Amino acid sequence: MKITEITAQPFKYKSRHGRDNEGHGHPGPEIDATQTLVTIKTDEGAEGYMFGAQKSVVDEHVAPIVLGEDPFDREKIWQKLRHMQRIAPSGLTDRLIGVIDVALWDLAGRHLNMPVHKLLGGYREKVLAYASTMVGDEIENGLATPEDYGRFAEWAIKERGYKAFKLHTWQPPIAWAPSVKMDIAACAAVREAVGPDIPLMLDSYHYYNRMDALALGRGLEELDFYWFEEPMDEASMSSYKWLCDQLDIPVIGPETMGGKMFTRAEWIKNGACDLSRSGVGDVGGLSPLMKCAHLAESFNMACEVHGGGPGNLNALGAMGMPGEFYERGLLHPFIDYEEPAQYLNTLFDPMDEEGYVHMPTRAGIGLDINFDYITENLI
Ligand code: MG
Repeated sequence: MKITEITAQPFKYKSRHGRDNEGHGHPGPEIDATQTLVTIKTDEGAEGYMFGAQKSVVDEHVAPIVLGEDPFDREKIWQKLRHMQRIAPSGLTDRLIGVIDVALWDLAGRHLNMPVHKLLGGYREKVLAYASTMVGDEIENGLATPEDYGRFAEWAIKERGYKAFKLHTWQPPIAWAPSVKMDIAACAAVREAVGPDIPLMLDSYHYYNRMDALALGRGLEELDFYWFEEPMDEASMSSYKWLCDQLDIPVIGPETMGGKMFTRAEWIKNGACDLSRSGVGDVGGLSPLMKCAHLAESFNMACEVHGGGPGNLNALGAMGMPGEFYERGLLHPFIDYEEPAQYLNTLFDPMDEEGYVHMPTRAGIGLDINFDYITENLI
């Protein structure tokens, strides 16, 4: 089988997700947003899909590599894309090559009429989700105060059925942010609201210094938090080693630091994390995410998967030393997460009343794509 076509088609859809000038998502008025559908086709009629790669980069850098290749040679294609990142580092990001890799997995699953987590080697049929909030804001009754976080956590756990909750707290451009004191106040309000038995996590400001990170970590220990995520710039592994050495609370990472499985290996080996962290968008695809999961497993360390979406969920279905949670979000009191995007017929990751997201049963990665909507809204 040979790949004969790869396209990235931009289309418009309506969204209520806005961004502040530091890039953080918040609820807002309905806007025209752009998404891109990547399609890979073969000479035998097999097709694979994924969202999110830039058309110019796919045309210029990806197509020359993948056209003519066997779509089942995922490792060969991924290694070629990885090496090409040296030549075209600005466009050929880990996120983008991850989209291509997931589309190839989707093609394989669709062609063999199997869900991808089964092709990977299935381990479980469902995974607990945690409610993962948007970052703090200044919206009345949104996520503007510690009490807002407490109220939202109470709804998520007691009404919606989540079994775990993660805060993203306040960051610039909010004038007074970041603030260790406010972060701890929000975490305390959430603990107070949900009681002692619910696992809670914090992902705070990413550029605290060491002393701030240590103070925050100690505050979380008093509140019996489950993990502490990315309080400092991850480019400094030594800082995380320093932090891990002093805290009892598990420190998780690296999340956004480049370097794929190589950085994960260094962090584990050097004692810079207690839980490993990888996601399809961080390490360049589902194939390398499984490498990271197996790496962590080999050190008896859980790999907690970063972010939602089909690549991450299928990986969680096939990890023998599981990451415990699927990240469901980003959530906000004024966003209805249960409503699928217009370009999907059904929600990809529905959650049951017990707080579980079930592995997709449809062939491929499990997306139920509304192709008519996309065709009608092509740019
Ligand atoms: Mg994070």
